[in-house]
Amino acid sequence: MPVQDFLVISQVCKSYSGHPAVQEVSLNVARGEVFSLLGPSGCGKTTLLRMVAGFERPDQGRILLGGQDITELPPEQRPVNTVFQNYALFPHLSVWENIAFGLRMARRGRAEIRAAVEKMLVLARLEDHARKRPGQLSGGQRQRVAIARALVNEPQVLLLDEPLAALDLKLRQHMLEELRGLHRQVGSTFIYVTHDQEEALSLSDRLAVMNAGRVEQVAVPEELYQAPANGFVAGFIGDANFLNAEVQEMLPGGFVRVQIEGMGRPAVQAAADWRTGAAVRVMVRPESLHLGLERPAASDRSNCFQAVVEEVSFLGGHERLRLRAGSLSLVVKRSRGAEGRQPGLSEPCWVRFAPEAGRVIEAVQPTCGAK
Ligand code: ATP
Repeated sequence: MPVQDFLVISQVCKSYSGHPAVQEVSLNVARGEVFSLLGPSGCGKTTLLRMVAGFERPDQGRILLGGQDITELPPEQRPVNTVFQNYALFPHLSVWENIAFGLRMARRGRAEIRAAVEKMLVLARLEDHARKRPGQLSGGQRQRVAIARALVNEPQVLLLDEPLAALDLKLRQHMLEELRGLHRQVGSTFIYVTHDQEEALSLSDRLAVMNAGRVEQVAVPEELYQAPANGFVAGFIGDANFLNAEVQEMLPGGFVRVQIEGMGRPAVQAAADWRTGAAVRVMVRPESLHLGLERPAASDRSNCFQAVVEEVSFLGGHERLRLRAGSLSLVVKRSRGAEGRQPGLSEPCWVRFAPEAGRVIEAVQPTCGAK
């Protein structure tokens, strides 16, 4: 069995009262991978996770784990544990007893349980809280107990359903680091459900972006950000400027020259061939647009245009600017340490971006754009 075929979700569908929640989803997850399901509320992430856990049965399709078809197996017979957003700890049991619970149910020996719980307490940095009850813990500590309680059973797959959603931003960032550390030490496969793109990008080896029950793209974080497969993924992952463009000519090396009102004729990347005259949408990330007061040298002018700064917002380490170039309105993210004197409010400026930083995302009319 190839390593990437550890968890195989094949053509899985699930509807509730005739409304599809998950539609023909196929995914392969590797052993030991941190794999995230990312998408807006209601896109089917939790339903898919619950089918892997065994809490829901697919209407169609199969789920295989380590080569075994587990589609019909009840949850308790799957080598899978779930961590929920609301912790679901036993309030009357101590941290120690909460962690030991699964092992007691499995009738493991006393010495084995003690050793496993002590080890988890250290891994989850809960040694000082072993005798406390959940009500005496902070949110982050409670979530660590929930994770420890799931991991102590040594599941082959740990399912995490928005486990950090109830925590504040600082604590979430801290818990993400802890999760990464735990994953390095235990090596189980993690499936992580979230609608928070930063969480998913920073934690995952690979991600699936879901929309309306379907998977839009599966990729490593950098690829999702740099080369989104379509407008939905581009808009969901990070900030983006979407520009209506007309294809002028294909260029060597996977580039295309396009006409964009207000911008002239820049070269941008294109994953497919496009016919001249096709109406397409081009994406440029706000941090890829660089501003200057001087007109760039002639050799550097193809992806360069004039604009005026209409708005500047201070956001700590960077500024967010709104520019106008003819009828075009653009967002620019400027680092506070940007080189040279930078244009201020109402000042005209020159804007440039590398051809690699622009990308044709999709046809404006999908049926007649692609060759
Ligand atoms: P969120 O991020 O808000 O948790 P999600 O992506 O996890 O959303 P799901 O919980 O999987 O989405 O829900 C997908 C769709 O299926 C939604 O339209 C939801 O209303 C519906 N759904 C989920 N569970 C049930 C259920 N038990 N009965 C009826 N409809 C359901």
